[in-house]
Amino acid sequence: MFPEFTLRYARLPERFFERFDPVPVVRPQLVAFNRALAEELGFDLAAFDADRAAESFSGNVVPPGAEPVAQAYAGHQFGHFNPRLGDGRAVLLGEVTDRQGRLRDIQLKGAGMTPFSRGADGRAPLGPVLREYLVSEAMHRLGVPTTRALAAVTSGERVFRRVPEPGAVLTRVASSHLRVGTFQYFAARDDREAVKALADMAIERHYPHLHPELNQREEAERYLALLEAVSQRQAALVAKWMGLGFIHGVMNTDNCAISGETIDYGPCAFMEAYSPTMVFSSIDDQGRYAYRNQPWLAQWNLARLAETLLPLLDADQQQAIEKATAVIKAFEPRYEAEWLEVFRAKLGLATEEAGDRELVEALLAALEAGKADFTLAFRRLSEAVEEEAPALRELFVSDEALQAWLPRWRERLAREGGGLEAIATRMNAVNPLYIPRNHQVERMIAAASEHDDFAPFEALAEVLAEPFTEQPGREAYAQPAPPTEKVFRTFCGT
Ligand code: AMP
Ligand code: MG
Repeated sequence: MFPEFTLRYARLPERFFERFDPVPVVRPQLVAFNRALAEELGFDLAAFDADRAAESFSGNVVPPGAEPVAQAYAGHQFGHFNPRLGDGRAVLLGEVTDRQGRLRDIQLKGAGMTPFSRGADGRAPLGPVLREYLVSEAMHRLGVPTTRALAAVTSGERVFRRVPEPGAVLTRVASSHLRVGTFQYFAARDDREAVKALADMAIERHYPHLHPELNQREEAERYLALLEAVSQRQAALVAKWMGLGFIHGVMNTDNCAISGETIDYGPCAFMEAYSPTMVFSSIDDQGRYAYRNQPWLAQWNLARLAETLLPLLDADQQQAIEKATAVIKAFEPRYEAEWLEVFRAKLGLATEEAGDRELVEALLAALEAGKADFTLAFRRLSEAVEEEAPALRELFVSDEALQAWLPRWRERLAREGGGLEAIATRMNAVNPLYIPRNHQVERMIAAASEHDDFAPFEALAEVLAEPFTEQPGREAYAQPAPPTEKVFRTFCGT
């Protein structure tokens, strides 16, 4: 069933990983399988068999050609450096070449205790596995770079967190699992050769236009270009999160992918009522990873990456620091530009005018003052291009600021070509109607974990596959949580 494995990471020197076979589980059962992704990856599904798939996606059977490894990495967790984190419950089976010729990692998450487990159990509860599956696939459909979910398997075992829960294994697919923390692991050991090998691999896999064979750049210039390229992707990524009200929740350096994909869906959540200081994660008491802080935390993570690359940037340390600092500083205008592009599109603006930033900010202030649902307010804005839209107004507990803003926006729209109908259509293609609402996700998890009922998972996955298309009969999925079900705290539960 599996396509041929390439084993790019496992062929690095031994110090990059620990060889580790997944620990078998008692009774693996396939509860979710992403057929479309499997096809994209070149799986042979002609003789697909759910029981055999469960054996492979639980790790009970290692597919032919795979050489499972737990990857080494370090990381700043909430600002504190840990020189040795690593895959404590994940195992990389290897890479496969997808239909477009790109290498993709296939990883089992929840595969048992590895040499990096540090006393934890190496397992994953079903709830977080289904959350990551659902939210990462939703993010993909929302147009956000992200790791993907290929399969979820229940293990037939219990894992113990706050309460005993069913155990599960997630099969995750990523452009790579190289993280800022991977570079930090080797920089902390002053292993320059390893940092260079990682940088070369990152260029080869994610930024091939910087590849030496294609480009005669000086080495040092190439690594600086790598830092710039990663910075650009992070700026674009976080701007997309901001445009969706997405709060990652744990932007530690080990959860910051060099590819620019969203990775490690833990206590992540989507905002409902717009509030820039919003934090969901129960372990983030200081609000470090609050909505509005996300761009600056991405920049902070990039600075940590830059530190690891210094020896590659210039033989003269002072020069290296200056070059790196310039790139890190440039993150700010890069991000601001990406953010403006995202929000311009949300307002239906295809042209650029000097007052646009202020126009967006004024709307956000109106949303905040009116405690309006972020997602629905942008979605229903398209109904207000011309005239009063009661469905928009009713989202606001007080709408004075909105009423003052709408004429300004309409005046701005008048200077856009193409007509109002086209503008409204364009807006509906970037402002989703359906997002993974936290209360829906919680309901889905409760049904699966407590009642072995996967119907809510399937229903939600189906709705979220078409987030921009109105789906008659599924209005409830677009609605914010009823007061009794509002989610204010999310848990990693890992
Ligand atoms: P995360 O919170 O998923 O980003 O993980 C941070 C670190 O904790 C990584 O080194 C993980 O491998 C490790 N970790 C998280 N959960 C577990 C677990 N249940 N067992 C072993 N290690 C874990
Ligand atoms: Mg992590």
